[in-house]
Amino acid sequence: MIKTIIEPFKIKSVEPIYFNTREEREAILTKANYNAFTIDAKDVLIDLLTDSGTSAMSSNQWAGIMLGDESYAGSTSFYKFEAAVVDITGMPIVIPTHQGRAAEKILFSIVGGPGKCFISNTLFDTTRANIEYSGAEGIDILCAEGKQPTVPAPFKGNMDIEKLKQLITEKGAENISMVIMTVTNNSGGGQPVSMANIRTVSAICKEHHIPFFIDACRFAENSYFIKLREEGYAHKSVLDIANELFSYADGCTMSAKKDAFANIGGFLALRNPELAVHCRNLLVITEGFPTYGGLAGRDLEAIAIGLREVLDENYLQYRIRSIEYLTNKLIAAGVPVMQPAGGHAVYLDAKAFLSHIPVEQYPGQALVCALYTEGGIRSVEIGSLMFGKYDSDGKLIPAAMELVRLAIPRRVYTQSHIDYVAEVIIEVFEHRDSIKGLMITEEAPLLRHFTAKLVLAK
Ligand SMILES: *Cc1c(COP(=O)(O)O)cnc(C)c1O
Repeated sequence: MIKTIIEPFKIKSVEPIYFNTREEREAILTKANYNAFTIDAKDVLIDLLTDSGTSAMSSNQWAGIMLGDESYAGSTSFYKFEAAVVDITGMPIVIPTHQGRAAEKILFSIVGGPGKCFISNTLFDTTRANIEYSGAEGIDILCAEGKQPTVPAPFKGNMDIEKLKQLITEKGAENISMVIMTVTNNSGGGQPVSMANIRTVSAICKEHHIPFFIDACRFAENSYFIKLREEGYAHKSVLDIANELFSYADGCTMSAKKDAFANIGGFLALRNPELAVHCRNLLVITEGFPTYGGLAGRDLEAIAIGLREVLDENYLQYRIRSIEYLTNKLIAAGVPVMQPAGGHAVYLDAKAFLSHIPVEQYPGQALVCALYTEGGIRSVEIGSLMFGKYDSDGKLIPAAMELVRLAIPRRVYTQSHIDYVAEVIIEVFEHRDSIKGLMITEEAPLLRHFTAKLVLAK
């Protein structure tokens, strides 16, 4: 008999969650200007805003915190961190940063700038913002199947190879700062990229002397999907698969707040020593000395341990299964959800879920608000509030998809929490016709979704 895939851990320390009523949540939401980022964490029952920095650390990681060497230079913890990154990526140069975006900022300040462009399967929001802030342009060329939320395919994070070739001809290789492959594709549904796609993109980049980088936040989840779905990888270890994946790249940026189970941290890993000199020069003025880069020794220690723990296949099996479990419950109830399940989150297709709300009234954000009011669940819109632009007449240019992401923190919630989440979503789905759209009253020029204020549309 096939047995339930259980949480591969037992609980040593617990943290309370707080309950409130629907009336209280309605008042909280109004006060928060219909923006879930401005709701206080204490007012959230199940927090699926992000899987970033929200992981439960293991007893080994907590033990590592006590071993943290806080020496300013040459800390023992740095060498453990460096060894873990080198073992996984095979890249000899490891630069610690306080988050993934700090690694991006340093790298793009050097290789970006006006007239340059960056090509990706899909750039994450901070990645795109750092590219645009440097004056460069970010271009997403996701494969066609990746843009159809409810049509299943094994590798919906793949890059469109034909478009890549076209863009190189159009833009000129010398104007392309780099090609960045995001694994898994966070903004595109946490969908994996195949090894074949990575290999082909890498070969094209080599031929045109364009640097090829990996945005590696969820490299272990992506590697596990390759093991499950790509021919020839079933018998390889996840570490071997990760090694091969990184072997095709010139460098990578990573947020340790994702697959490294850390609450803070990131890094930049490189092969090119000249580029590393420039990066370290910026590092010392923005982050810190090269052996700590904006992190405490104890953080470096926790990341070093987390990077090895995430390769445990019992963990990855449970991780991927828990996302699939929620996705399948929603599919069974007829809820429009991204298929197949991604690696770290469940994505609701808000355009189909709230088909009566036009994109100009942000159906994704309306759904985020409804899930909070109904069940105290916090999620995030990944659609036109996050990625929408305006044309010269001030008319909204909508995002390709209107998604709501329910990101599952690693090792934090149990199956009954997830059952509750499914019940709330299904309840909202049954009453979807009563949900109203929203309009923006205030917004920032970059990353507006973090601080935008909204009201109910008339
Ligand atoms: C989280 C994330 C980043 C940025 O990392 P931070 O640690 O949040 O700064 C970059 N790319 C992807 C794909 C991410 O998921």
